[in-house]
Amino acid sequence: MEETPQSAADVEPSGRLGLRLASWYAVVFVMTSLAIVLLTYRLLAASLEERDQQLVISTLREYSQRYAEGGLGSLAEAVDIEQRSGRQERLFVRVVRGQSQTLFLSAPNAFSDFDVSRLRGLSGLEQVLSQTGSARLEVASARLADGTLLQVGKSTEIREALLARFRYVLTIVALVIVAVGLAGGAVVTRSTLQPIRRLISAVRGIIRTGRINERVPVRAERDAIDELSALFNEMLDRITTLIRGMEHALDNVAHDLRTPMTRLRGVAERALQSDDVQAQREALVTCLEESERILAMLETLMDISEAETGTMRLEMSDAAVASIVEDVVELYEIVAEDKHIEVSTNVEPGLTVPADARRLRQVLANLVDNAIKYTPSGGRVSVSARREGAVVRCDISDTGVGIPPHDLPHIWERFYRSDRARMQSASGSGLGLALVKELTEAMGGSVSVESTPGKGSCFTVAVPRATDLAPNSSASRRRKPSARPTPALAKKSQVTSG
Ligand code: ADP
Repeated sequence: MEETPQSAADVEPSGRLGLRLASWYAVVFVMTSLAIVLLTYRLLAASLEERDQQLVISTLREYSQRYAEGGLGSLAEAVDIEQRSGRQERLFVRVVRGQSQTLFLSAPNAFSDFDVSRLRGLSGLEQVLSQTGSARLEVASARLADGTLLQVGKSTEIREALLARFRYVLTIVALVIVAVGLAGGAVVTRSTLQPIRRLISAVRGIIRTGRINERVPVRAERDAIDELSALFNEMLDRITTLIRGMEHALDNVAHDLRTPMTRLRGVAERALQSDDVQAQREALVTCLEESERILAMLETLMDISEAETGTMRLEMSDAAVASIVEDVVELYEIVAEDKHIEVSTNVEPGLTVPADARRLRQVLANLVDNAIKYTPSGGRVSVSARREGAVVRCDISDTGVGIPPHDLPHIWERFYRSDRARMQSASGSGLGLALVKELTEAMGGSVSVESTPGKGSCFTVAVPRATDLAPNSSASRRRKPSARPTPALAKKSQVTSG
């Protein structure tokens, strides 16, 4: 068992695919999660800022009211009550007259950090940065009825501290997300690729060991990978059947060639040992006959496989059925007479069929040959042809031995001969009906048989009448390989291949 150098390279593609899948998963997961985290932070910051600004503006409105109602004293009292209540964070409140005369100021110590002299008293929110730059004072101003300026402000310090804490927590969350994303990517990829890896290793095992009988395991869950594995197994089944069929066909050819070749050698050896010129001549004639038989068998085999694979060149034309039947019957006249078999024909006049005349003759000749061969002396064979719907139907029937039901499914296989046929007739290769079937199907037709043992058989060839039916249609190639071992070959190919 040889370890191929490619095996390391073979692992890589699935590994690389795994890495790619894991990266994609991690990137998509992490990016989505981070986007959500970022959005949450932004929304929180915006809502905190809005809440602070609302507070400043509503407080400014409230204090303006107080000032309008009760003057500075009332305002100072309200500020005092508010600050002592401790309900909320302390605000910056200032009342200024003119440019810089401060009439009232309420500011916690922390506010000393801001340079409030820079406030201009503009409408809207003004901002003053703290000296350390870590916080801002957001101030809203309102001009009161007596011309003084009321300012209410709030430091962003607490808000910033809250957001800083939130940022810290979010950073940790983001790190966890990245870690989970990477780990999740690895786990998901691993579980996704595992069946593929199993398939790869099973296939590699089969290739390495050459054990084509082994199969890839298919799980009960049946996902896409199992479907692929099942298909792969099915393909292996088909290949195995094909290989077995080819082996059988080869066995049969080898077996059937050995007999005539041995005979040939025996005849030649005997002729060489003999000094009789006449005997040598006869031996040469026998050798010639044997070699012709072998050639005919090989030719028939090639015809079958050409017709089966669709590579046979057919010369399609409107073939006159009556003339073909006449030719065939004439060819077998003497044989039939010798056996005292009556051959009758009944062909519809003027009947033509789109077919290769030579091949159609070959088909009918094979069937008539069989009919005469398998009919005992004194029997009858009839050949008839007529239109039937969209086809031309030719029946070749005999009053012969018939075909036992268990032989019927096999008679179309290459080299198949029934036991009785083998015992009864030395001639015959078991290729005749295989050729009949493949040729008929190559011409777009079909062939069938009905038979009663002891009474006779009727073979029917149906060829479509319409010329648009392409020859070599796909039906002709839907054959399963013949898997039957058979012996013997004989005259059949000789008779048919001309
Ligand atoms: P073979 O060379 O043996 O005739 P074929 O392929 O022509 O080979 O026929 C296959 C088998 O089908 C024959 O061995 C025979 O058993 C059977 N068979 C074919 N035609 C007939 C028939 N007309 N009557 C009875 N049996 C037949």
